[in-house]
Amino acid sequence: MGVKEIDADVLVVGSGVAGVMAAVKAARMGCKVVLASKGAMRSGNSVLVGGGWLLASKDFPPDEYVNFTLEGGKKINDAKLVRVMAQRGEAMISALREMGVPLERRGNRIWWVKMDTWKRSAGIVLMDALMEHIKHERIMAIPWLSIIELLMDEGRVSGAVGVSREEGPVVIDTKSVVLATGGGGGIYKRHDNHKRTRGDGYWLALRVGLPLWDMEFVQFYPLGLAEPHLPPLMVPPPIPKEGKAIDSDGEDIVKKHGLRFSLNEFIMEHRDQFTLILTGETEKGKVYLDYTGLPEERWEKPRLNRFGRINPDSRSRPFSVAPVVHFFMGGVEINEFAQTAIPGLFAAGEVTAGVNGANRMGGNALMECTVFGNIAGESAARYAMGVRRGKLKREIVGGKFPWKEERKEVKDLFRQVQDLTWTHAGPIRNGQSLQEGLSRVSELEGRLAELEAAGRSLELNEVKGSVLISKAIMRASLEREESRGAFYREDFPQSDDDHWLKNILLKLDGETGDFIVSHRPVEGP
Ligand SMILES: Cc1cc2nc3c(=O)[nH]c(=O)nc-3n(C[C@H](O)[C@H](O)[C@H](O)COP(=O)(O)OP(=O)(O)OC[C@H]3O[C@@H](n4cnc5c(N)ncnc54)[C@H](O)[C@@H]3O)c2cc1C
Repeated sequence: MGVKEIDADVLVVGSGVAGVMAAVKAARMGCKVVLASKGAMRSGNSVLVGGGWLLASKDFPPDEYVNFTLEGGKKINDAKLVRVMAQRGEAMISALREMGVPLERRGNRIWWVKMDTWKRSAGIVLMDALMEHIKHERIMAIPWLSIIELLMDEGRVSGAVGVSREEGPVVIDTKSVVLATGGGGGIYKRHDNHKRTRGDGYWLALRVGLPLWDMEFVQFYPLGLAEPHLPPLMVPPPIPKEGKAIDSDGEDIVKKHGLRFSLNEFIMEHRDQFTLILTGETEKGKVYLDYTGLPEERWEKPRLNRFGRINPDSRSRPFSVAPVVHFFMGGVEINEFAQTAIPGLFAAGEVTAGVNGANRMGGNALMECTVFGNIAGESAARYAMGVRRGKLKREIVGGKFPWKEERKEVKDLFRQVQDLTWTHAGPIRNGQSLQEGLSRVSELEGRLAELEAAGRSLELNEVKGSVLISKAIMRASLEREESRGAFYREDFPQSDDDHWLKNILLKLDGETGDFIVSHRPVEGP
C-alpha cells in the first residue's frame, strides 16, 4: 500500500469542541485546514456532554469567576489562562449561539444546551450544530484517521503521520498543528468517557519532547452508574431536588456525614470531596441514588426522560452508583495564545493542563475547549501564514500498519492496563500501591515489546500509548507527597502548601523510556 500525502496550512488533530472551534477559526482566517479524527467526526467526549458552560458575566464578575476556579483547583492552576477564560467567555457564548448551538442560562453562572426532546442528547445537539461549520471550502474533514506521530524539522513541527481506515498510511505536510485530542479517561476500568479516549495527545506530545504537567490530577465524577447490567455512565446533572444519595441501610448520606452542600453543589463544584466520601461508603456497602420521590411530570423533561429510558428501573427503585473517571486535569502546557513550547505546535481542550489545577469546576471544560479552541485556531493560522513549509521526512512512514487488530492478546493487554490503572491510581492512592503499579507497568512493557516484535498495528500502538500514560499518572502520583483536590494519598492525607504549591512535570527519556521528573513552583495569581 502506498503512502498518501496531503498538504495543509493547519492540521487540527481531533474533532471535539476544541478541534472544531480551532478548525473553523483557522479556515475563516484563510488557511487550508485538515481536520482529522480517529473516529467519526462527531466523536470524543464532546458528544457525551451534559451540556453546561460555566461563564463569567455581570452576574458572576470575572474576578469572582477567576477566584472560584483557582480556589476549586486548589491554587495550582495557571492563573493567566483562567483570566483569559474570564475575559473571553461571554463573547464565545455569543459566538456559539450564532453558530446555532441552542444555549439557555439557568441561574447566574451556568449556560446549558437546550434539549427539546429526549431523542437527541445535549452532546448530539451541540455537535450537530458545530458540524455544520466544518462544511467549509477550506476544511478537509477526515474521519477515521489516527495520527500516530508528529514530524519535526529543525526544532519545529512540519507534519504528521497517520493511519487511515480507508487509505492506510498517510503523511500530512503542514505548517502548524493543533492538538485537540481530548483526555485519557478510557484507560481506566471505570470511566464515563468515550471508549477511545485514551490519551493519544499526551504520548504524541511526549514523543516530540514536550513535558506533561499535573498528570496525577484525574477527576472522578462521584455519581456514575454502578448497576450490573448498565455501562458506568454519569448520572446527568442537574440532580432533581427530590433525589437523594443513600447507603445500603437507606440512610441519607448527605445528612449522615453532616455535609453542607446539596448533591448538585457537590457534583458541580466539589466532586473531589464527594468522591472520597462515596468511595469510603462503597468500601462498606453500596451507594444508591433514590429518584422514587420525583413527581411523574418531572420524568417528561427531556434530560430526565432520556435517563429514565437508559435506566428504566430508576423510576421505581433506588439505583446503584459509584465514582467513575471523568476528566484529566493534566496534560500539555500552553500559554495564553495556546502555544506549546514547540514552534508551530498548538493545543486546546482537555489535552492541555493549567486551567483546572487540582480539580475542575463543572462547566469549565466546555468553556476551556471553546475559548482555547478558538485561540489555538487563530494562533495556528497566524503562524502558518508567516512561515515557509518545513522539510518533511517522508521515509519515516512505510511498511504495513494494519488498522484493525484481531489479536486477542492485544485486547487482553488493554484490559490489564485498565484494571491496573484503576487499582493503583484510583480515587484513593498510596505510595506502596503506586510502586506496585509501576512494577506491573514494567511487566506490561515487556509484554508489549514481545507483541510488537510479532507485528505492529494501530491498536497495539494505542495500547502502548495507554501504558505510557498510566505510568505517567502513577509516577507523578508517587512524587506528590500530599493530598490536593481530586488527588488523594492516604499516606499523605493533608494538603501541604509549604512544599507542594507547585506543578509536577514529566519528560520522556527517549533512551530509557522512563520519566525525568521536575517541579515548577506555581506563579501567584
Ligand atoms: C459524560 C461526560 C459529560 C460531560 N459533561 C460536561 C459538561 O456538561 N460541561 C463541561 O464543561 N464538561 C463536560 N465534560 C467534559 C468535556 O466533555 C470534555 O472535557 C470535552 O468535551 C473535551 O473536548 P475536546 O475537544 O478536548 O476532546 P474530545 O471531545 O474528547 O475530542 C477528542 C477528539 O480527538 C480525536 N482523537 C484522539 N486521538 C486522536 C488521534 N491520535 N488521531 C486523530 N484523532 C484523535 C477523537 O476522535 C475526537 O475527535 C463531560 C465529560 C463526559 C465524559
